[in-house]
Amino acid sequence: MDRPLLNRRLAEFGTTIFAEMSALAVRTNSLNLGQGFPDADGPEEIREAAVRALRDGRGNQYPPGPGIPELRTAVAAHQQRFYGHLGLTCDPDTEVLVTAGATEAIAASLLALLEPGDEVIALEPYYDSYAACIAMAGGTRVPVTLRPDPERGAYALDLDELRDAVTDRTRLILLNTPHNPTGTVLSRDELAEIARIARERDLLVITDEVYEHLVFEGEHLPLASFPGMRERTVTIGSAGKTFSFTGWKVGWITAAPELVAAVRSAKQFLTYVSAGPFQYAVAEALALPDSYFTALRDDLRTKRDILARGLTDAGFLVYRPAGTYFITTDIRPLGFDDGFAFCRALPERAGVVAIPNAVFYDHREQGAPFVRFAFCKSADVLQDAVGRLKTLAG
Ligand SMILES: *Cc1c(COP(=O)(O)O)cnc(C)c1O
Repeated sequence: MDRPLLNRRLAEFGTTIFAEMSALAVRTNSLNLGQGFPDADGPEEIREAAVRALRDGRGNQYPPGPGIPELRTAVAAHQQRFYGHLGLTCDPDTEVLVTAGATEAIAASLLALLEPGDEVIALEPYYDSYAACIAMAGGTRVPVTLRPDPERGAYALDLDELRDAVTDRTRLILLNTPHNPTGTVLSRDELAEIARIARERDLLVITDEVYEHLVFEGEHLPLASFPGMRERTVTIGSAGKTFSFTGWKVGWITAAPELVAAVRSAKQFLTYVSAGPFQYAVAEALALPDSYFTALRDDLRTKRDILARGLTDAGFLVYRPAGTYFITTDIRPLGFDDGFAFCRALPERAGVVAIPNAVFYDHREQGAPFVRFAFCKSADVLQDAVGRLKTLAG
């Protein structure tokens, strides 16, 4: 058999760096600040809600294809509570679709909305499933690179570059705000301009907003709330990051009925349904009081500050994130410029694992000297990590 087993669409995507780095963390007994999962589970009452659903026989057999009505109603109520003042509401029966995490929402949306050869604009560096899912759907990815601004310690989107990236073959923009890995939260002005481009060029937008509740500076504004965007935007949410249950894989899209119907056509043949009992628990989670969401954000802001200060003291140039679980750093002040080599050596040198940002780029050279650390860990773990990293400062 001369022909490779893995098809051409996927050949460029080897094993993810997360597997290599997590194995390295175990082998060297290092603190794993690589992969972005919390080291403590979400609210006890929500875990109990899942147990109750399992015991009561709710969701143990195939739930309804669009998701259980309780969860769709809870998603709609959540949109009303947090975004109703922006005019963004949705109908639980026709404008909500429950998915196997945001990951399936991304895959199903791209598989449903793309024809082979369509171009997809995505903000680089990007979440690792984007490139693979665009490829599986036969699309062509067109990266628009977020540029680091060391003066401000933040990344910036060049709107002219975005506008110039649109061609006659562009079908959609795949947006992510708050943005993983840079922590960028797109501003009202930036979103208004993106909306203008989408309207003028008649583009669809898929917007990954899984960190909607993890904004430390500024505010999260759903793109769908901008004029003319409702009918062309698929908005993606997830219980994983908002409720610290990343293993449950309960996500959802909200969109106009025609878009939901299209995405459901793909979703029904991917998983059909998933996570029955967990859907009942997430319906309860979405109804938690505002204080839950505020406390989650405040807790993570404190953790961001612990890690940001520690990384600065250790000699990194820190890009202070306005949202998400992650801090991006520049390693050049420490005398290194290759994030891969740096991350492979860091466990032995300091007992900490991080991720080289280059893996999130098509233009790998743009991401070479940057390294990502996750701070969704206990304050003790972060203090320990900060202590270990101090040794780098010499
Ligand atoms: C974690 C993450 C996802 C995946 O969410 P799941 O609900 O676990 O599938 C999607 N997009 C971004 C940007 C993420 O960080």
